[in-house]
Amino acid sequence: PTHPTSGSIVIDVVRQYSEQYPSCVLLVQVGDFYELYEQHATNYASLLDLKLTRKQMTSDITVDFAGFPSRALDKYLDILVNRHDCRVALCEQTGLASRQDASGMERFVTRVITPGTVIDDRYLQAERNNYLLSILPSDDTIQLAWVDVSVGEFLVQESSRAALQSDLLRIQPREIILPKATDLDPDLLTWMADQFTVTHQPTDLFIPTATLPAAFDSLMSSTDPSQWLCRAPALALLRYIDSTHLSDKPRLSPPSPFQSNTTLQIDSAALTSLELLKGMKDGRRQDGLLGLLDRTNTFAGSRLLSQWIAAPLAAQSAIEERLDLVGFFVHDPDRLDDVRDLLRQSTDAQRALQRLTLTQTESTTDAGIQSDEQPAVTPSAVQTYQLTQLRSRQAMDMLAIGRTLSVIQSLGRVFTPATSPPPACVQNMLTRLDPHATLLSNLTRAFLDDLQQHTLEDYGSPTIDIAEDEKKAPGRLIHPDYHPSLRSLYDTLAKLEQRKTDMLQQLRTIGGRTLLLQNQQQPIVEISAAQAKKIEAQVDGLTLLHETKTKRRYHLTAWSELSMDLDDTLNQITQWEHVLLQGLCQQLDQHRASLMEAWKALAELDVLTTFSWLACHHAWTRPEISAACNTTHIVGGRHPVVEMHLARKGRTFIPNDLRMSDAESVWLLTGPNMGGKSTFLRQNALMVIMAHMGSFIPARSATIGLTDRIFSRVGAADNLAQDQSTFLVEMAETATILQQATPRSLVIMDEVGRGTATTDGFSLAYAILQHLHDHIGCRTLFATHYHELADVIAPLDRLACYKTTLYEDPSSFTFLHRIQPGVCRSSHGLKVARLAGLPPSVMQVAESMWTSLQKSSFGPMVNNDIDAMA
Ligand code: ADP
Repeated sequence: PTHPTSGSIVIDVVRQYSEQYPSCVLLVQVGDFYELYEQHATNYASLLDLKLTRKQMTSDITVDFAGFPSRALDKYLDILVNRHDCRVALCEQTGLASRQDASGMERFVTRVITPGTVIDDRYLQAERNNYLLSILPSDDTIQLAWVDVSVGEFLVQESSRAALQSDLLRIQPREIILPKATDLDPDLLTWMADQFTVTHQPTDLFIPTATLPAAFDSLMSSTDPSQWLCRAPALALLRYIDSTHLSDKPRLSPPSPFQSNTTLQIDSAALTSLELLKGMKDGRRQDGLLGLLDRTNTFAGSRLLSQWIAAPLAAQSAIEERLDLVGFFVHDPDRLDDVRDLLRQSTDAQRALQRLTLTQTESTTDAGIQSDEQPAVTPSAVQTYQLTQLRSRQAMDMLAIGRTLSVIQSLGRVFTPATSPPPACVQNMLTRLDPHATLLSNLTRAFLDDLQQHTLEDYGSPTIDIAEDEKKAPGRLIHPDYHPSLRSLYDTLAKLEQRKTDMLQQLRTIGGRTLLLQNQQQPIVEISAAQAKKIEAQVDGLTLLHETKTKRRYHLTAWSELSMDLDDTLNQITQWEHVLLQGLCQQLDQHRASLMEAWKALAELDVLTTFSWLACHHAWTRPEISAACNTTHIVGGRHPVVEMHLARKGRTFIPNDLRMSDAESVWLLTGPNMGGKSTFLRQNALMVIMAHMGSFIPARSATIGLTDRIFSRVGAADNLAQDQSTFLVEMAETATILQQATPRSLVIMDEVGRGTATTDGFSLAYAILQHLHDHIGCRTLFATHYHELADVIAPLDRLACYKTTLYEDPSSFTFLHRIQPGVCRSSHGLKVARLAGLPPSVMQVAESMWTSLQKSSFGPMVNNDIDAMA
C-alpha cells in the first residue's frame, strides 16, 4: 500500500518528465523497482509482457501502472531500445533508498537511452558500429557528422543532396537526428524513416555558433572547434549526447573529415543491388559479400570490415600496402595461423576502454564509497549490487584491455620474420602495434590471480545472481601486493581475523560448539539456551539482547570492538581498491589516443589476415592495380557468393574472363534468361570492389584499373513504399549514372529499358549506351535482351559484343555459363518457359503465335547466333 503523499510525489514526477521528454518511455525507479505510469504503462506494458494494472496514487488519482524489479532493467532496456528502437528516460532516485521510504525520495532523469547513444555492450551489436548521425541540409550541400559513442569515433563529411542516400547506406547509422524544419525531399525522408531510427530535433540544436558543451572540452585541446568542418551538425551531435548522457559523458576523438575522394565511391543502387553489406531478399548480413568475407577474429575487425566494404580505397599506393601485407601472410600460412590464433584471444578493447573512461566520471558520485564516514543509511541491496557490478565490470574491462595488450606483445614476436629486415608493410604494422609495456605490466600486477583467469566466455556477460550477491560483501579485485597501503591493510585484516578466531576458540571452551560470533545487523554473540548459563557466569562485558526458547543473543564489548575494527579494515580495503581502480582508469585515459591507435592497427591486422585466410582457402589471387583506368583484365573470374552457394549443392562455378581495354571498354552482353549475364556483371563489379579494399580476388589472374566510382543498374528495385514504379526507379538510377559517372568509373547495367514497351525500351537502351560510350567513356558492362542493339551500335568503336552460351540438341538444352565473343540472336524464352514447366497446351499456343510473329513485321532473325560482331 502506497502512502498517499508519496504517491502524489511520484505522479508529479511522472507528469513533469513526460512533458520534458515527450518522445521517451519513462521508467521511474521506486525502491527496488522500475515502474511505468499512465500512458507509458498503457502503451508499453504488453510490449514488455508486463501486467497492466491500476494503482491509486492519491485519494482521487488512480492510474495505469506496470513495473519490474530493478535487477531486470537490462532485459527491458534491451527490448525497448534494441528491439523496438525506443528512446527511454530513466528517472532514478537519488541518495540511498530503502523500501519503506522509497516513494517519497527525490528523483531525476539520470539517463536518456536512445539506440544511437548507448554505450553498454548489452545493448550493442558487437559486429557493427553504432553510429548516431546528424544531418544539416543547407543550400546545395548537406553537412553530415556522425559518432560511435561506444568507441569514441567521430567523423564529419560535406556531402550533397545527390549523394546523401549513398552516404547513409555506407554509414549505416543506428539513429539519425535532423532539424525539425528541413527542405529535404519528402520521398527521401520517408525512405530514411523506413531504414533508420530518425528523430527531428529543435532547429536551434543545429546552430553553428553554439558553444561546445563543457563535457567535451577535451576536444578543444586537440582541435579548434571554430575550424571544424561541418561545425553545426557536429555541435548538434555533441549537444544531443550531452542531453542523453546526463551523468556520464563519453570520451570522443576529435572529428575527422571523411574524404570521399580517397575512397572508391559506391552508388546507393550498387551498394544495395550488389548485396555488399546484406542480402537483398531477406536483408540478412550472412547473405551478402560481408557475410562471406567476415571470417575475422575480433569484433573490431568485423566492424572495420563493414566500413572497408562500403568505402574501399581509391589510391593505388594505399591499396598496394594492404595487398602486400595480405600477400606476406598468404606466403607464410604457418605464421598466418599463429597470428589468427592470437587475435582470437584478444577482446573488444575499443569498447572496454570507452566504457572505462565513461564510468570514471560516473563512479565519483558513488554513494558511500568516497566519504570517510559511514554512510548515514545502509545502502540498499540494489545499490550494493550495482556498485559491486560497476566495480567488477571496471575490473573486467581492464583485464580485457590487459589481455589485448598482451596479445599485441605476443604478435610482435610472432610477426617478426626470421629473415631480416621485414618488408615495409610488416614494419609499418609493427610500429603501430604498441603493447604499452608499462601499462600492461601495471594491469597484470594489479588484479587477483583468479580474476585474471576468467575465460573469454565470462568476459562481457558478468552474470551475477543478485539473490546470492546481495548477501555478500563486495568481491575483492586488486592484488594485495599492488600497493603498500593495501598490503598493510591485508596484514591488519589477517591479524584481526586471527584475533577473531582466538576469541571464538576462547569463548567456545567456556560455552561449547554452539557459540557463534556474528555481525549481520550488529555484532552479537549467539549461543544455545542450554549453554547460556556458563557464558553468563564466566565472561565479562555481556549484555543480553534477545532470547528465545532455544537461543540467546548478547552484546559483548570485546567482540563489538573487534568487529568494528574488522568492518573498518574491510571498508578501507574497498576504498583503496576504488582509489587504485580509478588510478588505473586515469592511466588508461592518459594513453587513450595511442591505445585507440593500437586497437585500430589490431583491427586492420585482423581484416588483412582474414583476407589472407580467404585467399588461401578459396584460391584467390592478388590483383595488380593499374593506373590505366580502362584496363581491366580478369582471367578466370568467379562470383564469390554464387560460387559458394553452388559448391554447397555440389556444383561448380564456370570461370569467365573480362578483358577491357581502351579498344574495348564497353561490353554489350546478350544471352537467354538464366544464362549467367547478371552473375557475370556482378562478379566483375565485386572483384573491382574487393581489389580496392586490398583483398585478393576470386580469379586466376587480374589487372584492375584504378576506379573512382561504381554504379549499377541491375535487378528490379521496386520501390512501392515511395510509390514509384519499377520503370521509374530504373530511369532515375540511370539518370544518376549518366550525371555522375566519370571516365574512371565502372558501370554495370542489366536489361535497361525492359520495364516499358519494346520500342521505347530499345530506343532508350541505345541512347544510354551511346552516351556512356561517346560522352563518358567509362568501363561499361551492358547486358540486354535487345540483340538488335548489336546491329545498330556497330559504329561505336570501343564497343565489343559478348554472349552467354548454351548447348542444344533437339530434345533439350543446357546453359554453359560461358562468356564468348558474339551476339546471341535468340532469347530462348520459349525453351526456358518449357524448362520451367509451363503446361504443354500453353506451350503449343505460344509456339504457333511465335511462328506467326516471325512472319510479321516484328520478326527479327530467329535462332541464328552470329559470332561476327566482336
Ligand atoms: P541471367 O542474368 O542471364 O538471367 P543469371 O546471372 O541470373 O542469369 O544466372 C542464373 C543462374 O545461373 C545463377 O543463379 C547461377 O546459379 C547460374 N550461373 C550463372 N553464372 C554461372 C557460372 N558462371 N557458373 C555456374 N553457374 C552459373
